[in-house]
Amino acid sequence: MADYIVQLSDQVANQIAAGEVVGRPASVVKELVENSVDAGGTEIVVSVKDAGRTLIQVIDNGKGMSEDDARKCFLRHATSKITSADDLLTLVTKGFRGEALASISAIAHVELKTRESGAEMGVKICVSGDEFTESEPISCSEGSSFSVKNLFFNVPARRNFLKSDQVELRHIVDEFQRVAMAHPKLSFRLQSNGNDLFNLKPGTLRQRVVAIFGVKHDERLVPIEEETDVVKISGFVGKPSFSRRTRGEQFLFVNGRYIKHPLMHRAIMKAYDGVLTPGNFPLYTIFLEVDPSKVDVNIHPTKMEAKFEEDQIIFAFLRSAIKRGLGKHNVAPSLDFESEMSISIENLPKGKVVPEPSVRVNPEYNPFLSTQSEQNKSSLNSGSPFGDFSNHIDELYSKTPNKVSEPEQESSLRSIVGGRKSDIQLDSIFQLDNRYIVSAKDEELVIIDIKRAHERILYEDYLNAGRGVGSEVSQRLLFPEPILISKADIDLLLGAADVLKLFGLDIAKSESGGLEVLAVPSGLAEKLQDCIDSVLEALQDGTWTDVEGRRERFARVWAEAGAVNRKVRLSKEEMVDIVERLFKCESPGIDARGRSVFTNLTVDHIETKLK
Ligand code: ADP
Ligand code: MG
Repeated sequence: MADYIVQLSDQVANQIAAGEVVGRPASVVKELVENSVDAGGTEIVVSVKDAGRTLIQVIDNGKGMSEDDARKCFLRHATSKITSADDLLTLVTKGFRGEALASISAIAHVELKTRESGAEMGVKICVSGDEFTESEPISCSEGSSFSVKNLFFNVPARRNFLKSDQVELRHIVDEFQRVAMAHPKLSFRLQSNGNDLFNLKPGTLRQRVVAIFGVKHDERLVPIEEETDVVKISGFVGKPSFSRRTRGEQFLFVNGRYIKHPLMHRAIMKAYDGVLTPGNFPLYTIFLEVDPSKVDVNIHPTKMEAKFEEDQIIFAFLRSAIKRGLGKHNVAPSLDFESEMSISIENLPKGKVVPEPSVRVNPEYNPFLSTQSEQNKSSLNSGSPFGDFSNHIDELYSKTPNKVSEPEQESSLRSIVGGRKSDIQLDSIFQLDNRYIVSAKDEELVIIDIKRAHERILYEDYLNAGRGVGSEVSQRLLFPEPILISKADIDLLLGAADVLKLFGLDIAKSESGGLEVLAVPSGLAEKLQDCIDSVLEALQDGTWTDVEGRRERFARVWAEAGAVNRKVRLSKEEMVDIVERLFKCESPGIDARGRSVFTNLTVDHIETKLK
């Protein structure tokens, strides 16, 4: 009987293998761009024509290749990235199989121009269907430029399977975005038929996400951060209210490599349990960093899957990190190109002792007396730890009886602060760095931190409101607003409704069985979801049952949420208003977290400085 087993020629074998690696033009883009990143490129430009059918070009300024390497790189299993299977345990590059260029060159016309860093001349090599057709020294810039033309020229079946240009281009954009998202510090550009689709400048991850998805996304992002022995988790997830019906905006990276991992996806979705509209998906860009020896990326040729040794543990960490991030997302939304985070919380200097915020009930308080401010003043003079300083301030302000004129415009601060008219004017008052109010008095300068002062004012307002005394802190909504809340939490929240009403939050069951908000704490309409989240947190962690603790907590959380930003431009009138209201507080000297609200600079200080 005749032998009928033959060994396929390399060319046929390569073409078959190519089918594994190169399914469509987007796969070529992915492989070439990843090679550019592996080669240390910092500027990577991708141009495609006709969705990659006619041309895919990727240019980088990476380390380039010698003439020898430039030839070798097209051989199957030729790679500079690993030398033994053990190297897979410490893998940091995207490529490692040495298959991509061999596969691509088996089914397209490929031209490579490359110059190694430091070399005088570069080299140009043309390969097609596995044959080297041309090779010559050329002068070109450092780095590599791959042009892939006539993809699938010798595999008509595959060519015919390609979808419309729009669909293929969409796939290219997807692959491009995945690599670009994983490397915010590199610049990436994508052109299609000569037009820029993306031109991404180096920056932070937040900036990259915003540059890819649009400015609107900035306010939707909640930072996620978690570090354990097993895994480091970082990135951003979207606020539940901005979830979409499409899955397009979900990115998961393991050690910088984009992967699809159904279990981890489930962990993320679980963190949103109950707060998402059914059928919606949140956006996420999550980076997991694990010990490379504990993750296997070698399970699929297109390398989109990964297997974790400790997947259950990572699942739990991932879920809780996101849950926590979402829980405390009262992050001021802002497009901040200087710092990655939108909030800055200053730490107390080591060793500095701060007096505990003192909370005292005024036994003489009578809500029906309109001269409440007089009462506050007297209690402040007698008992406040900052009493003697406040006396000076009182004196200072009582000497300035002139009426202030109406402000030309009602500014937002005034409405937050409460809009009481002030009777005093301070000629010497001014603002420093949009953060401090400075006023002079005979022998000293008084410097007040505006944000902290505002927090103190709101803190006491809410504290009093929580005790059922003091002025109105509630703002009725024109239309009841439904809130995003899981079924499990509805009854929990309703059970607290009476107490919440004191704090200005009025909730009720809606006709559809969910919850709606009828009134919010003043100034917090924009932060409704944050308010609700902080209540749920307290209900769940037990703070709720401690009545005084509960008051302090809400007064503090809501004061912090409602206070002006760290920097704010104030009119003179607003400055006076803040100062006036601050010194009607019981403890004007400290904010809700125990930090100093103001300081003073005496003539003595100044003299020592000038010595
Ligand atoms: P792998 O990336 O798995 O190593 P490839 O076939 O994609 O396999 O590439 C083969 C080799 O060619 C790489 O290991 C690398 O040494 C070299 N190479 C590919 N692209 C570039 C590039 N843009 N710059 C420098 N070297 C490159
Ligand atoms: Mg590669």
